[in-house]
Amino acid sequence: MPLTAFSVSRQQELDVDQLLQLFADQHQRPKLKRSEPIPEIWKQVIHADVECPACFAKGAELVRASSSKVTGEAIKQAYFRFPGGHHVFCDFAALPPGEAPEGLVQFSSTARDGLSRAVRDLVCKGIHLGLLDQARIRSMREWFHNKKVNAVFQVTLDPKVFQWVVAVQAAAWPVRYQPQRLTINKELLGVPGFQMKTAMEVMLARRHESLLTYLNERAVILRPLVSRIEKLLNANSCKLVFDPTNLKAQYDATQELARFISTHYDPVQRALGRNYFDVKASKPLMAFTALLLYLSNWDLNKAASLFTQIASYRGTVDQNLGNVMGLNPFHDYDAWAALKTLQEIPIQEFDGHDPGCRAKEWMDEAVAALASGQSF
Ligand SMILES: [Zn+2]
Repeated sequence: MPLTAFSVSRQQELDVDQLLQLFADQHQRPKLKRSEPIPEIWKQVIHADVECPACFAKGAELVRASSSKVTGEAIKQAYFRFPGGHHVFCDFAALPPGEAPEGLVQFSSTARDGLSRAVRDLVCKGIHLGLLDQARIRSMREWFHNKKVNAVFQVTLDPKVFQWVVAVQAAAWPVRYQPQRLTINKELLGVPGFQMKTAMEVMLARRHESLLTYLNERAVILRPLVSRIEKLLNANSCKLVFDPTNLKAQYDATQELARFISTHYDPVQRALGRNYFDVKASKPLMAFTALLLYLSNWDLNKAASLFTQIASYRGTVDQNLGNVMGLNPFHDYDAWAALKTLQEIPIQEFDGHDPGCRAKEWMDEAVAALASGQSF
C-alpha cells in the first residue's frame, strides 16, 4: 500500500499528513488531531481525486498512523488504501501496507548517502527551473504502466532447466573456442599433473557449444543473476508478467546517459566512487536519467542537453521540491530478460541431457569417457 499518492486536482504527490494539512488549510481550520475522525466530505473528495501512484486506480482511503498507547512510539505509518483493488500489474497489488515496490524511488528520500542527495538536488533544481514537475513525473509512471499492460509473457521456465543451464555456463565459462582444437584423449591423461577439472570444462563447453553460443550472443551471464531469477521464478510460475525486453532501446539509452552523468558530473561521480561504472545498480540515478529521457522522447542528445541545463544551475533551491516518487522502469531488467531468453532456448539443446545433472557427475563422466578410450 502506498505511503504517498497523487492528487489529480492538485497535480501533486502527497503523503497522508500533507493531504490532511491541505484540507485543513482549505477549510481554514486547525489540523485534525490524531483521535479526530476525517470529515465525511473530505473522504468523498479523496475517494474521487486521489489515485494510486503506480496503476492510477481511484477510490483511495486514508489509513492514519497509529502509535502505542503505552510508549507513545509509532507502530504504524499512515498510508493509502485502495479497497476497490489495484490493477493486476500494479506493483503495489501484492505488497503489505507501507512497503514500496522496488522500482519506485522516493526522490525526497532522507537517506544520507551521497548519491540520493546528489540526485535529489538535481530533481529539485529541475523543478525549480520549470524543466520537471510532479505532473510530468506522474505521466512517466503512467507511460510505464501502459507499456506493462501491453507487453506480457507467461513464465514457463522449469526451475530444473534453469539450474542446469546455470551449472553448464558456470562450469564451461573459462573455455575459449579455438579454430584449432586439441583433442583430449586417454593418452593425454598420462601428462604428469593432468587437470581433470579443466578437461571436464572443455568437454562440457564442446558438448554444449550451441547452447553457450546462444547465451553469449544474447549477452546472458547468469551467475550474478541467479538469486534474483530464482525469486522471480518462485513468485511468478505460470503467471503473465511484463516483458521488459520491450524496453530494450530505452534501457540502453538510460544506461548510456547514466554512464555519462556518473563519469562527468562531479557530485554523482564522487558519490558512486569506485562503482561509477555500475550505473544499473543505482536506483535513484537510473530513475532520474530515465525521466530525462522520457521528457526528451528518448532522444539521448536532447536528454543530455536537458541534464546540462539542470546540472549547471548554480543558485540554491528548496530541497523540499523533490517530494515526489520517481520510477526506475528497468528494475530487475537483466534478470527478467535472462529468464525470458532461457525460456526461448530451442528444446533440442536439452535432448539427451538430464537437466538434474551436476558437476560431480560430469567429472565422473569425463573420467569414464577418457578411460574407455573416447576423446573430446
Ligand atoms: Zn495500484
